[in-house]
Amino acid sequence: MLADACGSAGHVPAVLDRFEADVCGGWSELMDHLCPRLDTAFSASFAALPRLAGLASSRRGEERQYVVQAAGAIVACVVSGDDVFEDFSAPIAVLHRLVDESLHETPGADSYVELVQCLLAFEGVERWDRCLEGLNAGEYEVDCPYCGVGLFIVLRDDACFAASGDYALREVATTPLRPSVPGELAGLGERLYVRAVGDGQHRVARGLTYLFGEGDCPDCGTGFSVADRVVGC
Ligand SMILES: [Zn+2]
Repeated sequence: MLADACGSAGHVPAVLDRFEADVCGGWSELMDHLCPRLDTAFSASFAALPRLAGLASSRRGEERQYVVQAAGAIVACVVSGDDVFEDFSAPIAVLHRLVDESLHETPGADSYVELVQCLLAFEGVERWDRCLEGLNAGEYEVDCPYCGVGLFIVLRDDACFAASGDYALREVATTPLRPSVPGELAGLGERLYVRAVGDGQHRVARGLTYLFGEGDCPDCGTGFSVADRVVGC
């Protein structure tokens, strides 16, 4: 028996029908049932992946993005060791190909970052399938790895810095972040940077050099990898 956020999932086909009839307008209702708060998925959520893959295939532009993001949010909830990637490998492969194509269509920077998160979710990359979107907000909250003080990592077009305390409310100590030199990036940071440049997303690419760069705690001076703090290593 399939379940969703409301219990028995008997009504999910009707919710999917309404979503199909009005993708943009039906998105919230669909997520309320299949992925509330975008952080919990249910058996009915995974069972909906084939239908979402088919729907995404039949749509273009913004409507495809809505469908892909619904599926991406669901797949981002899969924990390692779960059978979802095995059981739904075919629709996940379709969704991965579609989001890969959508990235070439150069959506705005915010949509681009959300779609990259979906791409990573469909690949089973944990944490960054949720953590990348701090690039859109321009801010992460982390802890210093040595003294434990709460830090804001601020990634803005005009300044990228670490602040100990709420820099928006009062004057606090800050230190500039040190971006990675693109040629020295490695692993996921390198891959995402190269991809963003190739997709013409230069603002995102610049943010990635700071996100996969280094910072120093304004309170104790300890250096740290920004990306490691963001994913809680
Ligand atoms: Zn510190």
